[in-house]
Amino acid sequence: MVGLLSIQEPNLDANNRDDLGVSTTSTLFASSSFATKPKPLSMNSSPVKHSREQIADLFDLPLMDLLLQAQTIHRQNFTANEVQISTLLSIKTGNCPEDCGYCSQSGHHRDTTKLQAEKRLEVDKVIAAAKRAKASGSSRFCMGAAWKHPSAKDMPYVVALIKEVKSLGLETCMTLGMLDAKQAIQLAEAGLDYYNHNLDTSRRYYEQIVSTRSYDERLETLTNVRDSGINVCSGNIVGMGEGRDDRIDWVHELLKMPKAPESIPVNLLVPIAGTPIGDKVLAEGELPVLEWIRTIAVARICCPSSYVRLSAGRESLSDAEQALAFMAGANSFFYGDKLLTTGNASQSNDNRLMRELGLTAQFAAPKAPKQLTVLDAMSGHESQVMLAK
Ligand code: SF4
Repeated sequence: MVGLLSIQEPNLDANNRDDLGVSTTSTLFASSSFATKPKPLSMNSSPVKHSREQIADLFDLPLMDLLLQAQTIHRQNFTANEVQISTLLSIKTGNCPEDCGYCSQSGHHRDTTKLQAEKRLEVDKVIAAAKRAKASGSSRFCMGAAWKHPSAKDMPYVVALIKEVKSLGLETCMTLGMLDAKQAIQLAEAGLDYYNHNLDTSRRYYEQIVSTRSYDERLETLTNVRDSGINVCSGNIVGMGEGRDDRIDWVHELLKMPKAPESIPVNLLVPIAGTPIGDKVLAEGELPVLEWIRTIAVARICCPSSYVRLSAGRESLSDAEQALAFMAGANSFFYGDKLLTTGNASQSNDNRLMRELGLTAQFAAPKAPKQLTVLDAMSGHESQVMLAK
């Protein structure tokens, strides 16, 4: 399903808002005194595709040269100092049949991680969390379920969630595991804006991470998502014991796609004791943060019109390290105190950091559902009509 993007509801009650010294966080984000004049988005319909050697050369650049190039490309394609903010909620936690070696939600590691599995979250609880996310300044609401793939009986539930969350004016994203072509079309017809399915790492290192599904199956789901018209969100997790060659190959894999993902999360592993990869990294040492920053910068340069997202791993980073990640061209992040099962940077800390860096939040622009309910005024009957793409 989701890599490390394990979530719980953000704690956005009135007391928390008082901590910020403002009535709502959206008031805070509306301040744009630091924002530079927006530049038009580059059409970038046929960006230069870097070869594997060119990607490797970018990784080898002196860090300041790499950051300068990444930030320059970022400003040619996006509004400077503007970030897209998402909130992530787990709608079905734990006991996943997949065996992803970094994930506490895998049923294969439950004896050692002791993660308590939970049933599907009721629709009204999801909607309540989405409303709080919107009030906090998020433009996109991401819902993750620890499934191998959604079952037939899960589809009406996820379709209902998409429609309800969109009706709040939020963009929607889901990460539910593998999707076949028919399921992708069903989600597209409900109006889903983004589907997340991470490649995690290189094809070569993937075998060390997951055995219950193949790299090709991951790519097949991404193809189904792309063909359905839903925006693709697909990223990686660095710091799982892979080498730089694997990080280079992962970027190269993105460029082999007919179109790069619109959203690219670059996760820094949060090693969880009791998971095979977490235990290995805790014993052997974590990846230096600057290598994660380099990976962000290379992704920005090679995929200039994609949103590059900071996801897992921010919690333990200093302000200066996070500032470098934005300098490297990251322009999206998860907001809230928790990701799927790992901690996240606290909400009040994110507000403070955004203020200090002069970052402002991008507003939501959800896609209209492709299917519209039409009421016949004469007969009173409702019918569904498809909208053109
Ligand atoms: S074990 Fe399941 S929930 Fe965890 S990352 Fe893998 S697919 Fe997602």
